[in-house]
Amino acid sequence: MIRIERPAWDVIVSHARSKYPDECCGAMLGSIDGAAKRVRIAVPMENAYSGPQGARYELRPQDLLAAESEARAKGMDLVGIFHSHPDCDAYFSDTDLKNSCPWYSFVVVSICKGEFDHANSFLPNADQTAADKEELIF
Ligand SMILES: [Zn+2]
Repeated sequence: MIRIERPAWDVIVSHARSKYPDECCGAMLGSIDGAAKRVRIAVPMENAYSGPQGARYELRPQDLLAAESEARAKGMDLVGIFHSHPDCDAYFSDTDLKNSCPWYSFVVVSICKGEFDHANSFLPNADQTAADKEELIF
């Protein structure tokens, strides 16, 4: 289960809306208590994918490392990654799976015609062959 606190959720949705019709991405910082995760801070990041960004995103490894240090400095953890799917369902694509990390939660936000529609969170397995949906509360 992953719970995203209101201020963090607002940052995620406004970042996703501002980047529409491109995909946005970012990191989620907070706490992990067994299977219960709580996101307190969302950190918008630049989509570093060099091609058309309407259906692809890429995170710079150094941006992720910076988010990890920020989390540690605040006594938090890097809980997961978020990205948006413009005019598309919030599913976990094959590309998403291939570019995932098994130890993070992946929140996908569907933005339809520039507005928030729905969101899901996924937990990729260790060999990145499948991702289970995880309960998402926001
Ligand atoms: Zn995706």
